[in-house]
Amino acid sequence: MAKDNRKTEPNKKPKFSAYWIYAVIIIGFLVLNFMGGSGIGSAPNTSPSEFQDFLSNGEVEKIVIINRRKAKVFLTGEAKALEKHKKSRGKSILPVSPNDPDYQFEFGDLQNFENKIATIKKERGLDTQVNYDTENNIWGEIFITLLPFALIIGVWIFIMRRMSGGAGGGAGGQIFNIGKSKAKLFDQNTDVKVSFENVAGLEGAKEEVQEIVDFLKNPEKYTSLGGKIPKGALLVGPPGTGKTLLAKAVAGEAKVPFFSLSGSDFVEMFVGVGASRVRDLFKQAKEKSPAIIFIDEIDAIGRARGKSNFSGSNDERENTLNQLLTEMDGFGTNTNVIVIAATNRADVLDKALMRAGRFDRQIYVDLPDIRERKAIFEVHLKPLKKVENELDTDFLAKQTPGFSGADIANVCNEAALIAARKGNKAVGKQDFLDAVDRIVGGLEKKNKIITPQEKRAIAFHEAGHATVSWMLEHAAPLVKVTIVPRGQSLGAAWYLPEERLIVRPNQMLDEMCAALGGRAAEKVIFDEISTGALSDLEKVTKQARAMVTIYGLNDKVGNLTYYDSSGQSEYNFTKPYSEQTSELIDKEISNIVETQYQRAIDLLEKHKDKLTELAEVLLEKEVIFKDNLEKIFGERPFGKKEEEIIVEPS
Ligand code: ADP
Ligand code: ZN
Repeated sequence: MAKDNRKTEPNKKPKFSAYWIYAVIIIGFLVLNFMGGSGIGSAPNTSPSEFQDFLSNGEVEKIVIINRRKAKVFLTGEAKALEKHKKSRGKSILPVSPNDPDYQFEFGDLQNFENKIATIKKERGLDTQVNYDTENNIWGEIFITLLPFALIIGVWIFIMRRMSGGAGGGAGGQIFNIGKSKAKLFDQNTDVKVSFENVAGLEGAKEEVQEIVDFLKNPEKYTSLGGKIPKGALLVGPPGTGKTLLAKAVAGEAKVPFFSLSGSDFVEMFVGVGASRVRDLFKQAKEKSPAIIFIDEIDAIGRARGKSNFSGSNDERENTLNQLLTEMDGFGTNTNVIVIAATNRADVLDKALMRAGRFDRQIYVDLPDIRERKAIFEVHLKPLKKVENELDTDFLAKQTPGFSGADIANVCNEAALIAARKGNKAVGKQDFLDAVDRIVGGLEKKNKIITPQEKRAIAFHEAGHATVSWMLEHAAPLVKVTIVPRGQSLGAAWYLPEERLIVRPNQMLDEMCAALGGRAAEKVIFDEISTGALSDLEKVTKQARAMVTIYGLNDKVGNLTYYDSSGQSEYNFTKPYSEQTSELIDKEISNIVETQYQRAIDLLEKHKDKLTELAEVLLEKEVIFKDNLEKIFGERPFGKKEEEIIVEPS
């Protein structure tokens, strides 16, 4: 809780509200406006013609002309005593001193006014004094002079607050905290209790981090033999695979405080802030050692240095990274602070980070395979209220190829929400299937306006995908086809991709052929193609390019790859190959795609009747499953892998 104190202390001071400043400024404005520079204790107003009467009557002792537009009138002693003047003075709200004028008024043109006075004086033989004076509105002047400064200071304060506030949680006086680390601390006092039990699968990774737990729990065991305790471990893997969870579990198992922050938290507009945040973070962690510092998305600061020379802001990032390296080198083996960092792009990280004594351990956290998915489902199903005997985790794991741990957690939550929306008392199988569909494809949009022709085109397009993938040995087996629009797409086909580690050219080509089956069907049936195949084309083009330029699977280009795993060429504009090769690559990519398109067309021409039949069924039912296809095409001739496919007619 010590750290919490640090955070809350500034809040205890009475908060000075900026609104007061605004209020004072506005009131000041209004007051000055109403006063109109006439000074305090202003005399009653009169009109020029009335004044002329007073003057003619000889009641005026002195006139003072102010700023060439206003006249102050001082009456003679006798005149002051007159009833009419007493009355008008009595109207004045403010107390009047004998030195104040008795009347005031504004005249139009000075020349005219002077002439009038001179004429009257001459006619009546008066010797009334006419004086001239300038009056400054001191407060108004000060206000006007200070206004720009006040504005600039106000804007500056506002910006500072916004910059250091934001994610920081809105404590007051943030200007002075800008160099402080923004790490979130979990320790014995916070109830975040994560143990290895909460992390399903990831056996290898767990084993490796188990070692870290041991180091933290009894360091003597290792140091007594002369060993050095590692300072850092790098978790590498795609988002949502449980890297944060794993790091938290390490802290939970070792029962040590856990500082969690993201690499981007270090980055700020100001020079030197990142470095000072790093310093502060390590200082705090050392005070609480043994402790774990977890830096998510370390690539935000850990990118290889000096790679791009375009923006100056990089210097700041480099400083931050340098400070991080210095801190990691700086603390001795006995400080018991271990830094765990996570990234999904280990290839772009600065090599200096990976050197011995820094993040010398790299732990790979991959997308879960079918067994691991089952285990993750088991973890996340536990808190749900389920329909008895309906949920089979094997089945669920099979339905979710390519899902990350976070996706699975999301499916479980979504299923519960769907069940609740239906008004069910428990979560059932169908809720899970709906949740999976929704996460894969987005929300169903049943009320999207689609003309009958469009619907027909979509049905044939999807039927084309289904037919081609059915006919090809290596294409992913189909699970379900729908023409109900979902998210961005107008129709969709669900496949169950085989999870394989190496892919052969045949498999890639078959998949591309199936992906082009949609457009091919449009061509075969309507002799017309449409924009509906955009995402198919995108996928196919990328795949073809990868075959040629990355995997070296093209005969003409040969066994070359232009892939750079170090990420060094990221900012390069130059291609790593010559003009001729560039032309060759383009030609080969186009060649691959066109060949597969033609293959899909040939296949569909041959099975036009079945394609049509399938499309009609699809138009009628909107959603069809594998057994509908079997009715039309007969048993799929290839492989045993279909045994894995689960068909769920609804
Ligand atoms: P990452 O840090 O790799 O992006 P997280 O650790 O933040 O991913 O994972 C997000 C959520 O996904 C976790 O809070 C957890 O609910 C779930 N999750 C991910 N992987 C697993 C796993 N192996 N076991 C259990 N839950 C997991
Ligand atoms: Zn398509």
